[in-house]
Amino acid sequence: MDCVFCKIAKKEIPAKIVYEDNNVLAFEDIEPKTKVHILLIPKKHISSTADLKPEDKELIGDIFLSAVKIAREKGISETGFRIVINHGKDAGQTINHLHFHLLGGEKLPFA
Ligand code: AMP
Ligand code: ZN
Repeated sequence: MDCVFCKIAKKEIPAKIVYEDNNVLAFEDIEPKTKVHILLIPKKHISSTADLKPEDKELIGDIFLSAVKIAREKGISETGFRIVINHGKDAGQTINHLHFHLLGGEKLPFA
């Protein structure tokens, strides 16, 4: 499958990886929108929130907790951060492999 995030997960294309375990990968966004901008993905391909299955519950929890851990490590827990998932066209989803944005390091514009 021609999916850029699957390729990053398989180390076929490079990324600045900040966290990895068996099921989760976190790396720096190539075009950071904020001072801290990390993407977290499931290593297995899930196209979007619409494709989540009940068996993905633990995986999604793991990704969320990893984001909180990275926020702590990046020193933005105190100042604040945002965890965002874009779903579909109106939200601006450009990559069809589920990803969580961890945004922070500066005052964030809208909610
Ligand atoms: P979204 O608009 O929610 O689909 O977010 C996709 C994000 O992936 C954007 O913020 C892009 O800058 C980022 N991105 C695209 N290609 C890469 C890549 N090869 N490595 C890291 N981040 C990427
Ligand atoms: Zn993929």
